[in-house]
Amino acid sequence: MVFIQPVPISGGAGRHLNSENSIFLRQPLDVRRWLPQFSDAATRQPENSMTVVFDLDYTLLDTGRFKDRLCEALEVTPDQFRAHSDKLFGSARRHYDLMEHIRFLAGGDPARAEAISARCEAMVQSRMNGFLFESALACVRSFRDAGWQVHLMTLGSPAFQQWKVSGLTDLEPLFHHKIFVGTRKVEYLQRYVDSGEETLFVNDNARESLEIMETLPSLRLVLVNGGYCRNVEHSLPVFNLDQINPSLFAECGW
Ligand SMILES: [Mg+2]
Repeated sequence: MVFIQPVPISGGAGRHLNSENSIFLRQPLDVRRWLPQFSDAATRQPENSMTVVFDLDYTLLDTGRFKDRLCEALEVTPDQFRAHSDKLFGSARRHYDLMEHIRFLAGGDPARAEAISARCEAMVQSRMNGFLFESALACVRSFRDAGWQVHLMTLGSPAFQQWKVSGLTDLEPLFHHKIFVGTRKVEYLQRYVDSGEETLFVNDNARESLEIMETLPSLRLVLVNGGYCRNVEHSLPVFNLDQINPSLFAECGW
């Protein structure tokens, strides 16, 4: 089995990844072109290396608290936020897009749009790290320190998700690779399975996880106690983030 290193990292955990290491996927493209681990130019990785893929929202990030502060920056109530989201994106079943919401709130006034945008930017730059769940950094670091490849896979408007991640200056440098998915995660997780690489997916969404497990039975998946871990009836074990680390899986025969 040949493993390919996803991103050549020369620095340590404190090194910031630049935008070249990010992927923006709106359509189910030929992912091999975008995922460096499938690139012919990528370098080889030692045998037996493993990859952990983390979801972001409600898995590592307390997205509920983030949304509350975003509402304050936008100067809307949570009810108004939901109503605007339904109006702008609901009927088209699109992901929330912050810039479109700001344009809507500004009503064609560029100065007002600029002011709202500046408040949002200040909030995300100054406070985003504080929205991580308490054990998030330690959990991600434990895999990285044990030699795992550590990837982030987040679903939503790629521009909005990238903006959120840009404020996570404590977390972002820990990832060897970031994947911004505009459609369904299962289509991208399929590539990990096809590669033969040992992959663990850490996710909070039970409904999505069951779909992934049904489509990709050989993918290792662990459900974490987050916002959507009970959005469907299931009998899966639910872990707290501080229970998830490489030794847990070593004990399970990894
Ligand atoms: Mg999630």
